[in-house]
Amino acid sequence: MRTALISDIHANLSAFEAVLADIDARGVDRIVCLGDVVGYGPDPVECVDLVASRCEWSLMGNHDFGVLYEPTNFNAAAEQAAYWSRDQIESAARTDPERGRARLDYLNRLRVRVLMDEEFLCVHGTPRRPINEYLFPDDAQNSPAKMEQIFDRFDRACLVGHTHVPGVFIDDPDFLRPAEFDNLFRLEAGHKVVVNPGSVGQPRDYDPRASYAILSNGGAEATVEFIRCEYDIQRTVDRIHAIPELNDWLGDRLLEGR
Ligand code: ZN
Repeated sequence: MRTALISDIHANLSAFEAVLADIDARGVDRIVCLGDVVGYGPDPVECVDLVASRCEWSLMGNHDFGVLYEPTNFNAAAEQAAYWSRDQIESAARTDPERGRARLDYLNRLRVRVLMDEEFLCVHGTPRRPINEYLFPDDAQNSPAKMEQIFDRFDRACLVGHTHVPGVFIDDPDFLRPAEFDNLFRLEAGHKVVVNPGSVGQPRDYDPRASYAILSNGGAEATVEFIRCEYDIQRTVDRIHAIPELNDWLGDRLLEGR
């Protein structure tokens, strides 16, 4: 079974379309999304509709939650983007009430946790605080108690998003960036891992290309392949700059991947 793992699209339609084309060219059995479909970016309505039509399921991320309910612990730019995204979704619903209702219904039913294939625990943040907690690369060195508590909460592998930094946490503990294992990580029996496929729509590892991963499992061994994908970044930057409610920094940061 080949599963495309995507996360943190953040309403970046240009990046999302490029990733979907790349996924289609490689061929997978299903696509799953680890949350944050909306927030920050210029195309929330289109991205929700694409996730609903192309993904087997998506999780509730903190930005999806913030747009639907109330943004909490957001910085000013993120909060303003959340309110603007909500306005977009509401005005699209006034234009086309039937699709608008279906879209809101889809968002409202996003789950905070999915156990995939009985061995992959999927959450947006961490298994302790599934929507909001970050598991940062530095935590592997600096927060042993946090690492232990998180690794205690699943049996084999946990799939997360939220930090927008692709890589694998192992139970040494350590964090491995994809370049350290040539972009192909093998999950060995008896070792637990937390896998983050990175962000489709707002990468933060100083590589501006869209990030996602393909999990292959069901055979003798499971692997995760990390993939980067070029897209028309300037198109998204220009769209963000043209929308007064979206802070220019939300576009500028895409050019640097941070
Ligand atoms: Zn995010």
